[in-house]
Amino acid sequence: MNGNYQPPIAINEEVLSYASGSTEREALQNELAKLRSKQKEIPMYINGEQIFTEDKRAIFVPHDLKHQLGIYNYGNATHVHQAINAAQSAKSQWERMPWQQRASIFLKAAELVSGEYRNTINAATMLAQSKNAFQAEIDAACEFADFLRFNVQYLYELYNEQPPENSEGIWNRVEYRPLEGFIFAVTPFNFTAISGNLPAAPALMGNTVVWKPADSQIYSAQVVMEIFIKAGLPAGVINLVYVNGPEAGGVIFKHPDFGGLHFTGSTAVFKHLWKVIGNNIDLYKSYPRIVGETGGKDFIMVHPSAEVDEVVANMIRGAFEFQGQKCSAASRCYLPESLWPSIKSKLLQELRSLKMGPTEDFSNFINAVIDQRAFDKITNYIEKAKSDNDAEIISGGSFDKTNGYFIEPTVILTQNPKYTTMCEEIFGPVLTLCLYPDQSFEEYLKILDETSEYALTGAIFSKDRYAIQKALDVLKHSAGNFYINDKPTGAVVGQQPFGGARGSGTNDKAGAKANLTRWVSMRTIKENLKPVGDYRYPFHQS
Ligand code: NAD
Repeated sequence: MNGNYQPPIAINEEVLSYASGSTEREALQNELAKLRSKQKEIPMYINGEQIFTEDKRAIFVPHDLKHQLGIYNYGNATHVHQAINAAQSAKSQWERMPWQQRASIFLKAAELVSGEYRNTINAATMLAQSKNAFQAEIDAACEFADFLRFNVQYLYELYNEQPPENSEGIWNRVEYRPLEGFIFAVTPFNFTAISGNLPAAPALMGNTVVWKPADSQIYSAQVVMEIFIKAGLPAGVINLVYVNGPEAGGVIFKHPDFGGLHFTGSTAVFKHLWKVIGNNIDLYKSYPRIVGETGGKDFIMVHPSAEVDEVVANMIRGAFEFQGQKCSAASRCYLPESLWPSIKSKLLQELRSLKMGPTEDFSNFINAVIDQRAFDKITNYIEKAKSDNDAEIISGGSFDKTNGYFIEPTVILTQNPKYTTMCEEIFGPVLTLCLYPDQSFEEYLKILDETSEYALTGAIFSKDRYAIQKALDVLKHSAGNFYINDKPTGAVVGQQPFGGARGSGTNDKAGAKANLTRWVSMRTIKENLKPVGDYRYPFHQS
């Protein structure tokens, strides 16, 4: 299984700027126009075949609801059975393939993502998920290519982790076998890169996969699948189905060969799936691996020594990029009273400069939220804050879905550190601020730690090293990704391994070696080159 053919050293994909007048901007704009001009019909992919059904569903642009991008073919339990059978049939040949062959396919996919398909995958993400050009670039093109390339490098490093010493006449080795059974990859709407990585990482390690994306991400998921196929992925290795979650789960989680769940999405759904798997544990041949990266209530803690401009710039980027629909988005902020007047005036002034509108207009910072369900959920929090006595909306608060699901970046001020929007994940452009007396910094670190069920990302802004150290110490378990004087979003594969603890997930760090270890099962082989020929030990001799 191991070999000395070292793969290319992974390097992060360069982020293109899409500045006015740049060639990449023109090419992307042409691709946006092209995708808008045609109606795409999107099939499921089972055993390398395109599957069409009677159940056709429309895909609309979240920021331009009158525009239909195409239709997708919705499936049911029968398709899930077919996908499992395809994964099971492909398994034997795929897992026996030398790793270099598997790695080549995903390295080729990375080249397609960052080259030939860059505009298509970015434009698809801009249109169907309402990400602006830069947000699409860092996700669909760069992070996805990084996942694919770094995973190959980590595979090589992992396979080369072998028992350090062999005693005389003994050869010890470890084989990193794929898991038995098939993997179920369940992916969220908000990152095209995650949708591609969740099926790709287990497949790279020799597993076969049934992949179910979120309905609102099917348009770009299809581009991902097209790339995998063009890169040479054999039939049945990754099977893409569009089926209602509980219906898919009803088949998968009752199957004796269910081998693992690779999930990213909300905490509530993940907990539910874990319970279902637990209840069915007697049905399975193996203990399924359960990997889930879930919700967040990500914080910015500001010390009185912080620089106001830096705090404000990072609050805005951290909270409002991609309309706050990042698991890592800053959504609660603790500010010292002494800095509040200057932070407030700068923040309100900057917020007034944020433009909101369609992604095709590159001057817009804010675009639409993903769908009606998200729009209703987010605006309910805003409406409630308008009437609650312990909350005040100091900026934004308006929303309108006439043309698209637009919600103004909204800032809530509260004196109640346990106010609802300081605790619950909203997953939208809503930031709640809580002021604290300067002398109560340490007390508020403890309050922060105890406020929410989540522990995904968080940041401290301070010029005082003692304060930074104190925050690192008290907030040790409050975030799986901790930032010092930086926004809590934008983790880069190969640089800041990403994942949180507590209610935020199993913290297996997507795009890191730790994640790949979950998709293999080690077999230790001890070979004796000098077997004994006499059962007696020397101490038996008198
Ligand atoms: P979601 O939980 O609504 O859906 C995630 C996936 O689960 C979708 O494919 C959905 O169809 C599927 N699903 C839902 N119910 C199911 C069921 N009963 N059985 C099987 N599958 C089911 O999440 P979302 O709205 O797509 O994404 C947003 C959430 O994802 C947020 O909570 C966000 O914090 C989280 N997220 C976390 C990370 C991370 O790395 N921690 C990254 C991105 C998103």
